[in-house]
Amino acid sequence: MVFKKIAKSILFAKIVIYSVQLYFDVLTQSIAASVHGRRAKSRVTSPESPKELQNIVVIGASFSGYHAAKLLTNSLPPNSPYQVVVVEPNSHFQFTWVLPRFCVVEGHEHKAFIPYGPYLKPAPKSMVRWIQDRVVSVSKESIRLQSSTEEIPYAFLIIATGSGAEDSLPSRVGAPGKPEGVERCRKMQMRIKESKRPLIVGGGAAGVELATDAKSLYPEKHVALVHSRPTVMQRFGSELQAAALEGLERLGVEVHLSERMVSEDVESGTVLLKSGKVLECDAVIHCTGQKPSSQLLSDLAPGSISESGHIRVKPTLQIADDSLPNVYIIGDVADTGTRNPNARSAMRQGQIAADNITRVTWGKKPSHHYKPWWGEAVIKLTLGLENSVTHFGDGKTELVFPGKETDPALMCDGTWRHMGVTPFEDSSWPQGESEGVGSSAKLEV
Ligand SMILES: Cc1cc2nc3c(=O)[nH]c(=O)nc-3n(C[C@H](O)[C@H](O)[C@H](O)COP(=O)(O)OP(=O)(O)OC[C@H]3O[C@@H](n4cnc5c(N)ncnc54)[C@H](O)[C@@H]3O)c2cc1C
Repeated sequence: MVFKKIAKSILFAKIVIYSVQLYFDVLTQSIAASVHGRRAKSRVTSPESPKELQNIVVIGASFSGYHAAKLLTNSLPPNSPYQVVVVEPNSHFQFTWVLPRFCVVEGHEHKAFIPYGPYLKPAPKSMVRWIQDRVVSVSKESIRLQSSTEEIPYAFLIIATGSGAEDSLPSRVGAPGKPEGVERCRKMQMRIKESKRPLIVGGGAAGVELATDAKSLYPEKHVALVHSRPTVMQRFGSELQAAALEGLERLGVEVHLSERMVSEDVESGTVLLKSGKVLECDAVIHCTGQKPSSQLLSDLAPGSISESGHIRVKPTLQIADDSLPNVYIIGDVADTGTRNPNARSAMRQGQIAADNITRVTWGKKPSHHYKPWWGEAVIKLTLGLENSVTHFGDGKTELVFPGKETDPALMCDGTWRHMGVTPFEDSSWPQGESEGVGSSAKLEV
């Protein structure tokens, strides 16, 4: 008991140090960015623009890829022989964290789609080529796109394709445009609203958040959650698992652990579980099965794909394949040993890859290393519309802080601001627009 208290005090001290460190990290990053920029300018040797620019291609512009693109574009000198080419099929940055909430609560869904572009400022337009498309193949020297025959050669390649969910919402949107994405969220809201007995399959963060939000907004509904493991949130520590279960049960969500859904009989409105139990339900929502999107390398470097589907990397985040030294892998798709991959670890990897590539463009060796860090694994889990828990754990000791939530949109305005966009201004999505109109916004950098 005493030992546990000491361990918790030590962890608390580590969190305080971590917070101070985080503050200094932000400070150093902005100083580094301005130094990078100045150094970049001082490296201009020729007033002539190079005849043919070499490409630093970034595949995927979510937390890791978008951040890497920002740092790269801000590090290259004005007359650099390199340009950053970003390929991303989505018209907007799709903010995953708020998806479970916006699948239940109405009226905020458009806020999950943040216009791309301003985050890359102050990089000059000529530094960036933005392509809204999907990469379909990668060779040793180039990439190919889905919607054009253009083959884009690269000097450096960053693969930041993250992970995907087969059943899309509430974990991923599963549609590239904002109108379709907003429409999908609204359909899910209606499904839950019209259902009397929704059944949520999967007890990870998305499943727990969706189930507690649904029960919290509609207390009269019979909400059930089925999870294949003996605890919910099994990737985290036992104290968070207990807090999550307590939050579910306090609201009255019926939880079935160590169970799997075997089949659904829509006509009779039932599902059959592995144990033989039959549950009544009129809407099944799957919150399971996120898989790393590593298919692009299945021909070029099949040996670098691990059993879990992640791509093996060196500490420099170069792919673990000596024949591809200019290929870097970052974010959820990378096999970095991060315990709970999240936006923080993805962005730090983006920074390391960008810094290493910048060094190589200066004729140096990549020397920055990524090491998983416990401080990155902090999670805030909502437990209904009003409550949340924030969890810190270093693998041995945990601290769980209960919290009160007051903003139905989960303070996502902060992320809009972080991305350089005034909340919730989007020229492709007029304020007050109730139906999805307009296609993707023109990218403004
Ligand atoms: C529901 C939910 C809630 C979450 N909540 C939190 C949270 O509160 N805090 C936190 O830190 N983390 C949270 N996470 C985790 C976080 O969202 C991920 O760790 C993070 O998004 C990983 O970023 P990424 O850059 O690796 O890739 P992803 O976000 O997976 O994005 C990959 C990008 O690559 C693009 N792409 C894929 N294939 C191709 C291709 N062939 N060509 C071109 N582009 C391609 C995709 O369109 C996408 O934009 C949450 C995740 C989910 C699902």
